[in-house]
Amino acid sequence: MMERAFAAAELDDWRYLTLEVPAEKLTDAMRGLRAMGFRGANFTIPHKVAVIPLLDELSPAAELMGAVNCMKRDGDKLLGENTDGKGFVQSLRTLLDAAGKRFAVLGSGGAARAIAVELGLSGAAEIVIVNRTVARGQDLVTLLTDRVKVNSRLVHWKGDYEVPAEIDVLINATSIGLGDAQARVPVDANSLRKELVVADVIFNPPRTRLIRDAEQRGCRTLDGLGMLVNQAVIAFKIWTGVDADADVMQEALEEFLNV
Ligand code: NDP
Repeated sequence: MMERAFAAAELDDWRYLTLEVPAEKLTDAMRGLRAMGFRGANFTIPHKVAVIPLLDELSPAAELMGAVNCMKRDGDKLLGENTDGKGFVQSLRTLLDAAGKRFAVLGSGGAARAIAVELGLSGAAEIVIVNRTVARGQDLVTLLTDRVKVNSRLVHWKGDYEVPAEIDVLINATSIGLGDAQARVPVDANSLRKELVVADVIFNPPRTRLIRDAEQRGCRTLDGLGMLVNQAVIAFKIWTGVDADADVMQEALEEFLNV
């Protein structure tokens, strides 16, 4: 995605390297990155949280989420940002504006946290967190209520979740569906009203069972590819100052995933 976007923007001397760094080598890797003058970086599991003490500053969103997926070097300073939730909100914008809307978020892991914080910062009216493990769900609700200052409550997820009539957007932010197009997210299909927008963070495969079921019920849907492309579009702009060609990136991603 990045290399294609560099080429499309005629940033011919930019390179995006995928480097596998073992957990215990992260400090060395960050020292090397400073020494070699990298302009920025992305971080993925297991480094998103561990990298924080190795950075100089955090954006407000990254600080709230307690996770960094994107870094920009500014002189000698390394600045941590999180573009996952912003990518989701940007992708959602193709269908609606988050401000004033009511959301139900399934899951409370890294993806759910990034999305919920960013929805809160974008002026959501309410965020219902639906999670199997109460303690993890409650942590996120407390963060949303106390620090992001958005209305939030927890639903303990047991059996099929019935989406309340006042919810505008349902988001699957669990790992259910990853690598399995038949995996069923426990949601009562009868509660998928046609006015509901249904989004899934899963991008491989993008046409998850939830997305297919929602389409069949007449809902508007968003797959996980949009979030993935948009978090990259935002990172590209942070590093280069140039707007990326999102279509070129989406094409590269679809080619890579063979979808
Ligand atoms: P985590 O492991 O941090 O969290 C997973 C969440 O899913 C937890 O809340 C967990 O619940 C819940 N969960 C998992 N299995 C079940 C189940 N059978 N029933 C109910 N709940 C379940 O993962 P991440 O948040 O980091 O990632 C989640 C997914 O998001 C991944 O598949 C990842 O690929 C995708 N993702 C997509 C991105 C994109 O750009 N499209 C970006 C980032 C992630 P509990 O707390 O009870 O364990």
